[in-house]
Amino acid sequence: METKYNLDESKLPTHWYNILADLPFPLAPVIHPGTGQPIGPQDLAPLFPMSLIMQEVSTERFIEIPEPVREIYRLWRPTPLFRAHRLEKALGTPARIFYKYEGVSPAGSHKPNTAVAQAYYNKQEGVKRLTTETGAGQWGSALALACNLFGLECKVYMVKASFHQKPYRRVMMETWGAKVVPSPSRDTHAGQHILEVDPESPGSLGIAISEAVEDAATREDTKYSLGSVLNHVLLHQTVVGQEAKLQMEMAGYYPDVIIGCVGGGSNFAGLSLPFMRDKIVDKKNMRFIAVEPEACPSISRGEYAYDFGDTAETTPLIKMHTLGHTFIPAAIHAGGLRYHGMAPIISALCYNKLMEARAYHQTVCFQAALEFTRTEGIIPAPEPSHAIKAVIDEALACRQSGEARTILFNLSGHGHFDMSAYDSFLAGKLEDYAYPEAKVREALARVPKVGV
Ligand SMILES: *Cc1c(COP(=O)(O)O)cnc(C)c1O
Repeated sequence: METKYNLDESKLPTHWYNILADLPFPLAPVIHPGTGQPIGPQDLAPLFPMSLIMQEVSTERFIEIPEPVREIYRLWRPTPLFRAHRLEKALGTPARIFYKYEGVSPAGSHKPNTAVAQAYYNKQEGVKRLTTETGAGQWGSALALACNLFGLECKVYMVKASFHQKPYRRVMMETWGAKVVPSPSRDTHAGQHILEVDPESPGSLGIAISEAVEDAATREDTKYSLGSVLNHVLLHQTVVGQEAKLQMEMAGYYPDVIIGCVGGGSNFAGLSLPFMRDKIVDKKNMRFIAVEPEACPSISRGEYAYDFGDTAETTPLIKMHTLGHTFIPAAIHAGGLRYHGMAPIISALCYNKLMEARAYHQTVCFQAALEFTRTEGIIPAPEPSHAIKAVIDEALACRQSGEARTILFNLSGHGHFDMSAYDSFLAGKLEDYAYPEAKVREALARVPKVGV
């Protein structure tokens, strides 16, 4: 009875898989908010290096991973795939549950898969400094690590609520040499503006993005780096799913259901898109479930529309599932899932019914995480606890129906920096937030009317 499927280094993927080559529908173009016209590569040049801009729009099916990036990936990749025999037994389910574990990276999540690639391409093009935002601190840590490895400066605008809630994530970033400020900050016009209106603003990802974008756009030596949502970010994450395919072959099963939590959509895309190719091209019959928090249910309750990626309306307009760019979600512990929008690729797959989405409240997710921890040992981050809740529900449905389905999910990161969240949960103090319908309606009213 195998529980762990390891690949040796020679099986590390040589290419990223680009789903844009296989999508059965076109992806809506990114639009300039001023002209209403599709943007071109030059419009993005102040923010991103040209190689990443070209990857953003590429339709080449397989894109080679540069050797210096693979060399760093080898520090923790290929990551292990586990079969959750003990969880299966505890649930009394005939389902087979597998999980890919991305918590083994130095930063503790899947995020270095793209951070390392982005730092590499920026370095190649002579960039000296990168800015970014971070919510829970996972993305900031990943970029701090990657910048450190390639000798780049790194400035992180960290959502103020998390800056105070998660001091160890900040220290981790500083240990890798990054400069971290709470957002909204006084360092940018966007931050100053928010502070004038609300000096006590807890910040949001949308606000922090505005600050990091402004910083990069106004400095010659600096570019901006985004940890999710964009096509090139999802592309870099496909190392996860390509490895998982080989590991599922070793295990002798093919997944019937693939599950992941979604904030901006990158970890779920990373695991699922290489399998999605089998569904699109080979007509494989399988389900894909994207799991969101009830406090920020972009796909389940948002609109599929053009919207800004940030609060200050500085980014181009992206067609995606959105709750409105002015929406500030409740301070749930899964900070990585508090984004108003969703990756255009994931949004389009959901809209075209190739994927489905569902949302859960945080206490049932922590309960699921506890069940997982007490059977499988690993303590999950609050984000993938949402995936685990869906996995357990699917496995219990199999117990009802007697079907022995194969379920695969992405355990996107460990929860070692989230002990205060577990502490609240164990003490019975964790709250659920009702779905903020009025706030969402208000924010959706401020989504620009484009392409409708
Ligand atoms: C950031 C993060 C997420 C959410 O982001 P995606 O882009 O949707 O993957 C999920 N899990 C972990 C551990 C994270 O750090």
